[in-house]
Amino acid sequence: MISPPTGDNTPRWPDDRASAVALAFDLDGPTGDAMLGGSLWSRPSYFSQGAYGPWRAVDRLLRLLDTLPATFFVPAWVVENWPRQCRRLIDAGHEVAHHGYRHERFADYDLAGQRALIERSQRIFAAELGTVATGFRTPSGDWTPGTPALLAELGFSYSSSMRDDDRPYRYPDADLIEIPARSELDDYTSLAYTRDPDWPSGGARIASYPATLDAWRREADGYHAAGGCLVTIFHPKFIGRPGPAALLAQWIAHLRGNRPWFATLADIAGHTRAIQGVQ
Ligand SMILES: [Zn+2]
Repeated sequence: MISPPTGDNTPRWPDDRASAVALAFDLDGPTGDAMLGGSLWSRPSYFSQGAYGPWRAVDRLLRLLDTLPATFFVPAWVVENWPRQCRRLIDAGHEVAHHGYRHERFADYDLAGQRALIERSQRIFAAELGTVATGFRTPSGDWTPGTPALLAELGFSYSSSMRDDDRPYRYPDADLIEIPARSELDDYTSLAYTRDPDWPSGGARIASYPATLDAWRREADGYHAAGGCLVTIFHPKFIGRPGPAALLAQWIAHLRGNRPWFATLADIAGHTRAIQGVQ
């Protein structure tokens, strides 16, 4: 879908808050590394780096978030392999949303293939978590022109996949809300890159934590001043390590100072539908 945002795009947030914050995490587990490195099983160290997310980081993030609501995009393969940890997200009141079965790139599938991935994943969510996803984030990359309409047909309320705005909008020809996120608040950008694997080749290495915190604080203040909807693309396997988790705690304290509306993406989609007069 390549079409401009439409509808009433005036930022208005509940409880007279000037901006909104959605803390969103992609609990990829080892699946993201499989995509980058090739086979899921051929590189044990890649696998273990990804497994750190559901295996170790989830509990730390749950303690850190405490009562703050968050959204976790979880490939259904991760739910199958770490059901106990994923159920803890539900038990703590967080939202769990769709992120492929094994982090597939949707642009590589036709609509029938995309439908099969989603339906398979929803069955796993229902069986293991007692719920189904109403939110969608493209696993690393892009989709095809018919994907928004397919998501609406399959009962999804929103996507958080695009980069073209700092507030939600409704697709012009699909009953779907888009809540864009930005790469500046993707922890891969500052916390993930290492020498081995050297990916992206020639790219930056892990940034200093003070510089990262300073950048994220400035992003938060900018979104707040603009009345926007800040959405993160954090990965528990990186942000959930002991050092970055301390960084996250400091950033959340800064966010609280602005008194934004903290909400799940599902709640932000519902709010957007309400003020735009669509259900
Ligand atoms: Zn992902």
